[in-house]
Amino acid sequence: MQYEAVIGLEVHAQLLTGSKLFCACSTRFGAEPNTQVCPVCLGMPGTLPVLNAKAVDYAIMTALAVDCVVNPISVFARKNYFYPDLPKGYQISQYNEPLSSRGRLDITTESGQKTIGITRIHMEEDAGKLIHGEGADENYSFVDLNRAGVPLIEIVSEPDMRVADEAVAYLKALRDILVYLGVCDGNMEEGSFRCDANVSIRPIGQAALGTKAELKNINSFKFVKDAITYEIQRQIDVVEEGGKVIQETRLFDSTRGVTVSMRSKEEAHDYRYFPEPDLAPLVVNEADVERLRENLPELPEAKRSRFGDAYGIPAYDAGVLTSTRALADYYEELVRLTDEPKLSSNWIMGEVLRLLNGNGLTITGSPVKPSAIAELLAMIKDGRLSNNMAKEVFEEMFKTGKTAEDVVKSKGVAQISDEGAITGIIEAVIKANPENLERYRGGKDKLFGFFVGEVMKAAKGQANPATVNKLLKEKLNG
Ligand SMILES: [Zn+2]
Repeated sequence: MQYEAVIGLEVHAQLLTGSKLFCACSTRFGAEPNTQVCPVCLGMPGTLPVLNAKAVDYAIMTALAVDCVVNPISVFARKNYFYPDLPKGYQISQYNEPLSSRGRLDITTESGQKTIGITRIHMEEDAGKLIHGEGADENYSFVDLNRAGVPLIEIVSEPDMRVADEAVAYLKALRDILVYLGVCDGNMEEGSFRCDANVSIRPIGQAALGTKAELKNINSFKFVKDAITYEIQRQIDVVEEGGKVIQETRLFDSTRGVTVSMRSKEEAHDYRYFPEPDLAPLVVNEADVERLRENLPELPEAKRSRFGDAYGIPAYDAGVLTSTRALADYYEELVRLTDEPKLSSNWIMGEVLRLLNGNGLTITGSPVKPSAIAELLAMIKDGRLSNNMAKEVFEEMFKTGKTAEDVVKSKGVAQISDEGAITGIIEAVIKANPENLERYRGGKDKLFGFFVGEVMKAAKGQANPATVNKLLKEKLNG
């Protein structure tokens, strides 16, 4: 029998507010444990939550960016459960009246374009973090409540994906949007962008859904792909062997590349949701929604297609250059200065990103600004530098922060474009290789490359290649 998988994703994204969702504590990552806490986020009796307006704005911006309807009234609810990292004994979330619903996100995979439905986006607070002791502390567990109360949005997709690649494409597109919006840093390792995947299988042609397993907290795109791929095959094997898939929560073990059962899946009624009595329903007025809509930045997909249209660069280039807003801005600044869209793209995707990656930097930390590259590219255009020389000069600029002009002066690199000088070199090379000249003239065309090599060697790589080619042809054939 042939099976297909049905995949839905739940993404938890941490909003980039300075303070928590219901109190003024800092959300900064990496502080000493339990230093960013107060009576509210510690769940002390008698305290009251106060909703963070910025978090609401960020959640609405996200909803608008994926075409969700922003509901004029939404309700916070208590999700009751006990866990040591949850001091109140409940999490404040939204349940049957979420902030927004019914959105969509277009994804592109190797098999083409597809639209993935978004069921809802709601707001909630994060829990704290348990740290299990090691070595001498191996019998202890510790709790850090700095994260308790940090604002999250949960973005729930429709079960519209069929293969792991679609899930990865969806997550990447979603993360790009959040990062572009500036509402989330998208950092999967620090847990500010986390994904759970609901996976089930069914015989092809069957409309009813199979029983799903929920894969928890998968913290890289590669693991998402590996975990889903493994889980699909596991479920097929269970069914083929006559067994039944059970509804459960499974964890992905990335070292072994397998999913393992963690617990049977809770049902919503296990949480005894009820409206949070300490918070009034959240009322969002239309004027605020429109204000936020007008201020949305250009989103990744729109920018990609504009780059293709406006600059005539290939889709691949446009994809790389729009991977972050900062990189896209850098590129546009360089094109504005050089009026050379393709050359600028080649340089950024080649030399600039190569050195940035090699040094663990991002474009915002680049020691070379667009204006400095523009100066360098101008030297290539007016023949002072060959492309290869420019690459060397660029490495030096990158290392020292010097301008192209300074590097060229201090290193004495300059391309020989002077025809007289190059002719002199060519004549010397020809004179030194009479036999090869004879063979070339006798029809051995391939020897042209040999002569180019000799001339470049004699010129210490500094001769303008186009001029060398042109003059060498004349001399050899003459
Ligand atoms: Zn607090």
